[in-house]
Amino acid sequence: MTKKAYIIAAVVMLSAFSGMMIANSSCNSSTAGSSEPVAIDSAAGEVASPAAAEEEATPSPDNAIPEGASILMKCYPDFVKGYKDGKLQMSDGSTIVYDDGRQKSFVQKLDDSDAEDMFAFKYDRSSWTPEYLQDAGRSRCEQLFKKMYGSSSQQVASKLVNVKWFDANGNYGGASVKFTPVNGAADHLKAVAAELSKMPQFKKYYKSEGTFYWRKVRGANRLSAHSYGMTIDIGGNYKTYWLWSNGGASETAKIRYENKMPHEIVEVFEKHGFIWGGRWYHYDTMHFEYRPEILMANP
Ligand SMILES: [Zn+2]
Repeated sequence: MTKKAYIIAAVVMLSAFSGMMIANSSCNSSTAGSSEPVAIDSAAGEVASPAAAEEEATPSPDNAIPEGASILMKCYPDFVKGYKDGKLQMSDGSTIVYDDGRQKSFVQKLDDSDAEDMFAFKYDRSSWTPEYLQDAGRSRCEQLFKKMYGSSSQQVASKLVNVKWFDANGNYGGASVKFTPVNGAADHLKAVAAELSKMPQFKKYYKSEGTFYWRKVRGANRLSAHSYGMTIDIGGNYKTYWLWSNGGASETAKIRYENKMPHEIVEVFEKHGFIWGGRWYHYDTMHFEYRPEILMANP
């Protein structure tokens, strides 16, 4: 091999290697690794065998559907129809990038979440004390949620239906709440209410503190889950929230956990596809949000 050919082969191998690294480290579609190994063969003067050519024709591993994307397809079948070339294929023909490939800090995973970041945190149902910075569900891909539930206050509001709920005395049917029927969320909340009504010993917790409210998260630039109409706050006088007990704490500070919500109530909500804000390190124990994908990803 001449010196020049050697250099070319070395460069080609290096670039093929870095292409493979990219393909392995993210779920982005990358074609960098697929054509260049051929160049290595020709640079080295070898003839590719028919078997090698067949291997070239098989799909590269980076086209495999990431687990999170397949969970989204199962949990939101009316909207997420497939996955192709690194993108969620939506029922209206649009696409949403699954993984933007960026390395993000903890706060960026919340403020600027792609679909993949929603699965970056643990929702641990084996313990009642959240681990440091495990906030599964606080990451929401806004593009996806706006596509499903509505991209403005008016759009979300126009879909809401009434769900029979509890009044201030805990009487079932004494009040109703507005909730989105999208993805079956209102039906799931109805099922929660029916089960809670059979647990009158906890009725002092049931009054709604609010469902739909189009707004940004306190002190942040992202939309609150309440904007999408698939979230309810309850808890009466027994609400705890990380910022109330740890005033002025930053998002990465070590904080003290505090909860007064009975676990039996939490388990009813989780059974019907809702996650509980009390399982977040940055706890919000009044908060229940319809997020079946987080439960499916954290069995
Ligand atoms: Zn809430």
